[in-house]
Amino acid sequence: MREADARTRWLRWASSAEGFSLRRVKTDILILGAGGAGLFAALHANAADPSLSITVAVKGLLGKSGCTRMVQGGYNVALAPGDSVERHFMDTIEGGKWLPDQDLAWTLVTGAIERIHELENELGCFFDRNPDGTVHQKAFAGQTFDRTVHKGDLTGIEIMNRLAEQVWARGIGRLEEHRALELVKSADGAALAGALLVDMRSGDYVLVHAKAVLLATGGGPTMYRYHTPSGDKSCDGLAMALAAGLPLRDMEMVQFHPTGLLAGADTRMTGTVLEEGLRGAGGYLLDGGGERFMQRYDERAERATRDIVSRAIYSEMRAGNTTPHGGVWLAMSHLGAANVTRQFKGMVERCADCGFDLAGGRVEVVPTAHYMMGGVEFARDCSTGLAGLFVAGEDSGGVHGANRLGGNGVANSTVFGGIAGDTMVKWLADHGEFHALDQDAVDRAIARVERPFREGRFADLESVRDRLLATMWDNAGIVRDAASLARAAADLDQLAVELSAHALPEAARERAFNLTWHDWLNLTSLVTVSRAIVRAADARKDSRGAHYRSDYPRSGELSASTFTRVRMQGDSLALESVPVRFTRVRPGESLLAS
Ligand SMILES: Cc1cc2nc3c(=O)[nH]c(=O)nc-3n(C[C@H](O)[C@H](O)[C@H](O)COP(=O)(O)OP(=O)(O)OC[C@H]3O[C@@H](n4cnc5c(N)ncnc54)[C@H](O)[C@@H]3O)c2cc1C
Repeated sequence: MREADARTRWLRWASSAEGFSLRRVKTDILILGAGGAGLFAALHANAADPSLSITVAVKGLLGKSGCTRMVQGGYNVALAPGDSVERHFMDTIEGGKWLPDQDLAWTLVTGAIERIHELENELGCFFDRNPDGTVHQKAFAGQTFDRTVHKGDLTGIEIMNRLAEQVWARGIGRLEEHRALELVKSADGAALAGALLVDMRSGDYVLVHAKAVLLATGGGPTMYRYHTPSGDKSCDGLAMALAAGLPLRDMEMVQFHPTGLLAGADTRMTGTVLEEGLRGAGGYLLDGGGERFMQRYDERAERATRDIVSRAIYSEMRAGNTTPHGGVWLAMSHLGAANVTRQFKGMVERCADCGFDLAGGRVEVVPTAHYMMGGVEFARDCSTGLAGLFVAGEDSGGVHGANRLGGNGVANSTVFGGIAGDTMVKWLADHGEFHALDQDAVDRAIARVERPFREGRFADLESVRDRLLATMWDNAGIVRDAASLARAAADLDQLAVELSAHALPEAARERAFNLTWHDWLNLTSLVTVSRAIVRAADARKDSRGAHYRSDYPRSGELSASTFTRVRMQGDSLALESVPVRFTRVRPGESLLAS
């Protein structure tokens, strides 16, 4: 059997004198991305109508790529007596500094209950339990209740393994190591008709004709010097959405996780995350001189929200109070080495791999770019402004506002992934048809990505990457101002020019697994999306959650909150400030009985 579902019709192979091949695939539902959002969507769509052909296309391997697999801490859900969806909702809204779309946030907190039962009872996930048999829920920073369900500190592996097994078992079509390049509209531009992909193993193009497409490629702020997401993530989905004219919201809101491992420039382990539960359990942050400092910044000290802790660490770094590699210390030993080893086995082992003793000593840490709260604007049913395109997970924007609570990320991708699967099937029943693909748009897309094989001059991509990581970290990172954002914008313009003129060296024009070509594609997406971040950060003249402007340090009037919306207009990014609608609760009010 072919790798793709047998029900998917393979129409034709086209060889071209141009030096590349294009093959065509037809499927009812195309899902781009195979993280928590993509796989949940596939399973729900398959359960709702098993006769549909569903194809999951993924840049990496199914079940092995993306960030859901990397989830350590766990999954927020209001299960325990004393907790409530109202409390989870208020934590989400207040953590998000009143910017979240309240209806999306409500869908998240209510849907999380349904989804966690599905994960346990239908998919067979084992989460840690209390001695009385109830699910264990741990403390996560920024929350008023211990509500984070987990499997030790490797929760994502449990979730992804169970999801992938089911996708394999149900015969859902798979296009692994297939990278989406562009969303392709219908000839009249009114609806989405499919997507252009490249089979990374051969370099052949694959044109997928679909009735409905889900964008679930998982964002991922890998344009910063220190970052946590998986290496396959380069904001491709967001770049494709921009190119298709879709609005992105909250793009200035890039979350830095306070405790990335800092083990020097020579290891990819630098930047990888040490989970929130370490601070939740009572871990201390110490400056280079060994002193605790968080009480000076927030009364919750180490358990303050991620934005506050990241900014505090960054201030200590700027003041020069640092460890040998330029960060701060994370110390757990006062909680007892045996206890720490038992609770955080995975973290202890990861630190040991880099020469640190987490349980009994101290570990060097640095804030690390972790998550993008911003993304494609979408409705509660995961539909977007483009008929036939749906979005879920980290590619979507509006659920978290200015700050995502630890534990709300995987809840977001699984809750909305499931909803997207259900919605697409319902939508197909009423509207589902194959629209003719805009062939000119396909030709333009191929011409764009083919350019490095044809003309231009070699750009040193390593240097482009270094300059991208540096300018985003230094100028558009944890602390920004008008001058630094202007520097970032100018640097990004220059990088975009260099990338657009890049040609692959003669010796690097083999198409199969051409990592230099894919690196160029990655960097092109990252520069595109970085421009959206900088544009939105420049427009927001206040400081909220993850966005801190040293020239506008105040949060502004909460009841007059606006969110940013960027979209491509011609060749430039247009920006609007859109009033937040407080559909359930207004600033100063609460859904909790006082
Ligand atoms: C280290 C780490 C720890 C985390 N811990 C937690 C935690 O404890 N709790 C929590 O709630 N959240 C956590 N998160 C966040 C959480 O992982 C994400 O919020 C969530 O899993 C994102 O799910 P997703 O399905 O949107 O994207 P992902 O799971 O990242 O999946 C994206 C998929 O898209 C594919 N893809 C990318 N580009 C393309 C393309 N061009 N074409 C085709 N496919 C593409 C990728 O290969 C991947 O399969 C953590 C994140 C990281 C990085």
